[in-house]
Amino acid sequence: MGERNKQRIETRAIHAGEPVPRICGAVSMPIFQSSTYLTDAGADYHDLGYIRLNNTPNHTVLHAKMASLENGEAGLVASSGMAAISTSLLTVLGSGDHILAHKCLYGGTHDLLTGEFESLGITHTFIDAHDPDSWAQHLRDNTKAIYVETITNPLVEVGDLAAAARFAKKHGLISMIDNTFASPVNFRPIEHGFDLVLHSGTKYLNGHSDIVAGVVVGSAELVERVRHRLNHFGGALDPHACFLLQRGIKTLAVRVRYQNDNALAVARFLEEHEAIERVFYPGLPSHPDHDRARELFDGFGGMLGFEPKGGAEATLRLIERVTIPMSAPSLGGVETLITQPSQTSHRGMSEADRQRLGITDAVIRLSVGLEATEDLLDDFRRALG
Ligand SMILES: *Cc1c(COP(=O)(O)O)cnc(C)c1O
Repeated sequence: MGERNKQRIETRAIHAGEPVPRICGAVSMPIFQSSTYLTDAGADYHDLGYIRLNNTPNHTVLHAKMASLENGEAGLVASSGMAAISTSLLTVLGSGDHILAHKCLYGGTHDLLTGEFESLGITHTFIDAHDPDSWAQHLRDNTKAIYVETITNPLVEVGDLAAAARFAKKHGLISMIDNTFASPVNFRPIEHGFDLVLHSGTKYLNGHSDIVAGVVVGSAELVERVRHRLNHFGGALDPHACFLLQRGIKTLAVRVRYQNDNALAVARFLEEHEAIERVFYPGLPSHPDHDRARELFDGFGGMLGFEPKGGAEATLRLIERVTIPMSAPSLGGVETLITQPSQTSHRGMSEADRQRLGITDAVIRLSVGLEATEDLLDDFRRALG
């Protein structure tokens, strides 16, 4: 771990955290399909070897690998992104506490704050992540944390992330960020002062649309507190899913860099096409957050939004006509996925809230995969023609 800052992320994705020496000489990490492990009498409950306690060999390798990629002290995997997010929030917040949260959150996180936390006595205020001057007026004596997302869904906005970490330090809050859309290849929040980084490992980290997983990275002290909660709540990642996530992460850097390039090419193509009304992609100079994204990120990601001319009808026609992008929720896999957020990720939101956030029925979200750029462009050219 000592040299982890010296090597590039491509190298660390493959080698960081792997057992030294290799177990029985196996170059690839074996799957430890054992629920329980021989343990010395008198060991602490959280140190007994047991899958739910998130401490089998398949867990510990991933913890070290993710800590290295995010440049944090410690990492933790969970059974889903929502397990990582809910357990982290319930570690930082208890009954009577308050949190400031980005107003445009991932649907599951939004519903957790608005639907579940109320009954636990945890309150929230939604803030505009682009307007740091407006945050202080929402602070209360019981405010414990600030929660943002690196890139929002589906308009791919980039709030003032560095300001959020600074604001937390100044006011004694814990800063939390969902870094799923960027992945550590494009953005590492801890380098900007964030306390806890959260991921849906289901997306770019695993990258093959075949498991559900979550990740938490932060200080050793904070991550250990989250692990104890996770041990009690039961959201442990299964060893086979650990193995697949570990395998997926090894190609993270090459996948994400290709996806950055592919998405930029698709965004440029769409922006110039006469049948397209608007394109949202932080890598385009026309995006209102382009300058900030350029300053913070090493790449602009594989997610983009756009609106064809002709409203919702044209949107549905296009989704039907394209042959490579598959119409399915989720993102970050090798295959390009296309969705209409008003009918999928943001369906639970009221029409008025969607309009206020600019998520009309015409908006299309694209998770650009690893297909050949020219094939994707040909497909859109034909479908729009
Ligand atoms: C998918 C997603 C989640 C939830 O992750 P799961 O693995 O589905 O539980 C959280 N945040 C973001 C940004 C996501 O895209």
